[in-house]
Amino acid sequence: MFPSKEKIEEIIMELQRIMRIQDWNIDLKILTELEMLDYDGDKKTGAVTSDYEDRNLIIIRFNKDLEQNQYDNWYNVIIHELKHVQSMKYYNRVYENMKFIKDEELRKELEKQQDIFYEALIDRQAREFEALYPVTNFIKEDENVT
Ligand SMILES: [Zn+2]
Repeated sequence: MFPSKEKIEEIIMELQRIMRIQDWNIDLKILTELEMLDYDGDKKTGAVTSDYEDRNLIIIRFNKDLEQNQYDNWYNVIIHELKHVQSMKYYNRVYENMKFIKDEELRKELEKQQDIFYEALIDRQAREFEALYPVTNFIKEDENVT
């Protein structure tokens, strides 16, 4: 169960203000699990991609079928994806620099390790943010509709 798309968009704008990432335009797409699978072959809860035409446009894809029984989960997914947005320029820079590693096997191994540590860091930051700014700061339990 999660709020309407409009309510989530409203919350995203407030979270952007807190995280100081108002300069990014965020396009939220709420997808079913099947649509999510079509998108990148992975049943993940959320995904974030940048648009190469518009450098400050971010598309957050949100899987609405996962964890429907967990009230807070949608909120953690949104925070997690926004934490990716917050660190996107740093992350892209690391990948740009990786291109200087000529040994392809070594580069791929380092990228793999980088991804694992990056994902773990984002996960921890999202949990910390959620503890500081719980979902109840933005939405009352009775506003929660499907
Ligand atoms: Zn992630």
